[in-house]
Amino acid sequence: MLRFPRMSQPQLAIPDLDALSLQLEDAPPQEILRWTVATYAPDAVLTCSFQHEGVALGHMLQAIAPRTPIVFINTGYHFPETLAYRDLLLSTYGWNLVEVGPELSQADVEARHGAELYRRDPDLCCEINKVAPLRRAIAGVRAWINGRRRDQASTRRGLPILETLPSGLVKVNPLARWSSKDTYYYLKQHGLPFHPLFERGYTSIGCAPCTRPVLAGEDERAGRWAGRDKVECGIHGALDAEPTAD
Ligand code: SF4
Repeated sequence: MLRFPRMSQPQLAIPDLDALSLQLEDAPPQEILRWTVATYAPDAVLTCSFQHEGVALGHMLQAIAPRTPIVFINTGYHFPETLAYRDLLLSTYGWNLVEVGPELSQADVEARHGAELYRRDPDLCCEINKVAPLRRAIAGVRAWINGRRRDQASTRRGLPILETLPSGLVKVNPLARWSSKDTYYYLKQHGLPFHPLFERGYTSIGCAPCTRPVLAGEDERAGRWAGRDKVECGIHGALDAEPTAD
């Protein structure tokens, strides 16, 4: 097992975290998770939208620190299959799920911004339904574990294992080095179920109005906001900036 410094201090200095991130480059995800919970628990959470990366990390955490909160942002627009998959995993593994959602109902959002906001202004729709709920959910959290991988998109190619945001929040990316095959084989090897839409060509799954199956030869995330410039929901970019009032 690798040995890394643990902290009794609230936060490592950023240069130390950068060096530690490099040290963790070759560590398996479980080792990165062990260091994270040893360092930051109980102020560490995993976010999971019930894509396979989040499911793999949830499964690893179950063996390492089962009370670690797993935050699911329920936008109200998820596929019924995603909610069924969530229910299956919860009933099987008993994760410590924390479900959060928008403050406004869909009817209130519609009254304020008009129908089908996701078509007209998906950035605002994501801000209301994803980013703002996440900001509330991770207020006071010191480490945010998430399932991004470098090979998912050009915008993720430089993803380090550890990142420090201006707010001091540390983002932990244990699967940064993994490929989609690594995730697939992890689920297979551990007998975990696959998302019901995966075999129907959905290689990246978000809200139903903004996700379609990918076509042959397309990138893994090509089915997200297809036909638009948008490639990210904003929960990562928005929170990388200085905190703002909702
Ligand atoms: S992914 Fe689409 S439906 Fe979901 S919050 Fe963003 S714009 Fe709205």
